[in-house]
Amino acid sequence: MKKAVFLDRDGTINEDPGYLNQASQMKLLPGVAETLASLRRQGYLLIVVSNQSGVGRGLIRLEDIPKIHARLDELLAPVSAKIDHYELCFHRPEENCSCRKPLPELLLRAAEKLDIDLSQSYMVGDKATDLEAGRAAGCKAVFLVGTGDGLRTKKAISMELYDGFAMGLSEILALISQ
Ligand SMILES: [Zn+2]
Repeated sequence: MKKAVFLDRDGTINEDPGYLNQASQMKLLPGVAETLASLRRQGYLLIVVSNQSGVGRGLIRLEDIPKIHARLDELLAPVSAKIDHYELCFHRPEENCSCRKPLPELLLRAAEKLDIDLSQSYMVGDKATDLEAGRAAGCKAVFLVGTGDGLRTKKAISMELYDGFAMGLSEILALISQ
């Protein structure tokens, strides 16, 4: 079985403009490309698990999602990093779907498809819902980053909800390599 790092997208990998809906808005946070390259060299699959309710709300066109992710690939290519798989929820919260984080379904689906051992895998995100999803999926550890909503999240939630905090994704490397 394989090991993976599950990553929230907006606010963790890239800047979060709120309902990012065009490729030109895709901007990596500092150090992210190099960090993702390093994780891949360590043998981790990189899986984006993201709530994209903007699609269900009509604020993001479904056909633009592949273009946005193609742009992300372009930005990662110079350091030979890439996202191995995307697992996304397009529902609005009030639809009460079975896949929106904090439910673990996006992680469980990816694990099933790619033969991932969740107990050897990590979840990283800037929101409590990311941490809860990672916990519920049975990840080895869940980490909070201070980018995006991370600092607000840190003030608002119990420390028991996560196993480590870092100011940004690149500082997570030290926690994962341990
Ligand atoms: Zn959903």
